[in-house]
Amino acid sequence: MKRREFLGLAGAAALTPAAFSAARAQVAAVDAPFAPVLSSPDRVIRTVVGLRPYRAPGYVLRAERISRKTLVHNYGHGGAGVTMSWGCSAVAAELAAQAGRGEIAVIGAGVMGLTTALLARRAGMDVTLYAEHLPPHTTSNIAGAFWYPSSLFEREAASRDFLQLFPQLARYSQRAFQHFVNDPNYGVRWVRHQDLRYRPPRQLDGELPGGDALYPGRAFHSDPERWFGYPYAMTYAALIIDPDIYLRALLRDVENAGVAIRRTRFADATEIMRLRERVIINCTGLGSGELFEDEHLVPVRGQLTHLLPQPEVDYSYVTGTPEGTLYMFPRQSSIVLGGTHEHGETSTQVDESQVERMLRGHAAIAAAAR
Ligand SMILES: Cc1cc2nc3c(=O)[nH]c(=O)nc-3n(C[C@H](O)[C@H](O)[C@H](O)COP(=O)(O)OP(=O)(O)OC[C@H]3O[C@@H](n4cnc5c(N)ncnc54)[C@H](O)[C@@H]3O)c2cc1C
Repeated sequence: MKRREFLGLAGAAALTPAAFSAARAQVAAVDAPFAPVLSSPDRVIRTVVGLRPYRAPGYVLRAERISRKTLVHNYGHGGAGVTMSWGCSAVAAELAAQAGRGEIAVIGAGVMGLTTALLARRAGMDVTLYAEHLPPHTTSNIAGAFWYPSSLFEREAASRDFLQLFPQLARYSQRAFQHFVNDPNYGVRWVRHQDLRYRPPRQLDGELPGGDALYPGRAFHSDPERWFGYPYAMTYAALIIDPDIYLRALLRDVENAGVAIRRTRFADATEIMRLRERVIINCTGLGSGELFEDEHLVPVRGQLTHLLPQPEVDYSYVTGTPEGTLYMFPRQSSIVLGGTHEHGETSTQVDESQVERMLRGHAAIAAAAR
């Protein structure tokens, strides 16, 4: 089966226009007031640090033959692994199916391993999932999990094939996530999103990542009174995923589908290739750097500070400031403050100076909320 056909058919993801309108209707009107985020030290409930598995040429999504086995890679999704999970996993499962529909092993239980295992199982394969860590102890659980297919490759470093397939996979993924909106068991919802800027967006932008159609309701504004003191804003409806809810549900779906789960740490690729399964899908995220000696794979450190939840905050934003990026994503269980991207940094210790920057920066934005 050709890759494009597979993506079309597997479109568990088709959304009717009526369902799409219903989903959009949940997003507050663009002119509804913005409840200010209460960004202060006494509201902090935790700060977490994670390492994004980044590759300048983009994620690795391919099959290779190693003696009598097939190894499929699905790793290196940088700051957009949750975003790209359904599209990339559909291709990984298809590559495994092409190699033989018997027993397969999936390595990794982050968003990529779980989604791949589920799709492979649904396609009739006999799947065993091996992983050192299960949710909630994966990098995928740390993600801000804003649906945005960016921070995952550099255009100049990516191949033509990669650039051609990427928008299709982003589109496929977004449509797949739309199925979970309205089901509280999955923690996926639409919010009105603001991209707050000092310069007019049209001077900066070509097409948005993955194609403009992925940003419903997109509009440009230039009214600082309204947009948190910023002279320009681009707004659209965006999907936000709560990874704690979503990954717990995905793990349950994987188990209910009949995937066997084994807690194992592999020391190297040789150990992986000794598994009894003839087809193996590698979804080990940053772990692939050591396991498969991929020198392109680098950690991009990110730190998120979570505040007590505010149900009245029904919007998200991202902005650049002279001190760095700031973003805010609302969840049922917390308000997520973020905006750090440190290439090559491996420490997972909390940086208190960044916590202070977050609290101060978001408080300044909140002070201008209308
Ligand atoms: C601060 C931060 C913010 C982010 N924000 C977003 C966002 O807004 N939107 C978005 O889409 N993405 C975001 N991301 C990126 C996203 O978290 C990653 O791209 C994604 O989690 C990668 O998923 P994965 O399944 O490949 O890897 P992981 O979640 O890291 O899972 C890897 C799995 O492989 C297993 N494994 C690894 N090595 C071995 C081994 N040797 N033996 C056995 N098992 C092994 C692990 O135990 C784990 O089960 C963010 C990341 C960070 C850190």
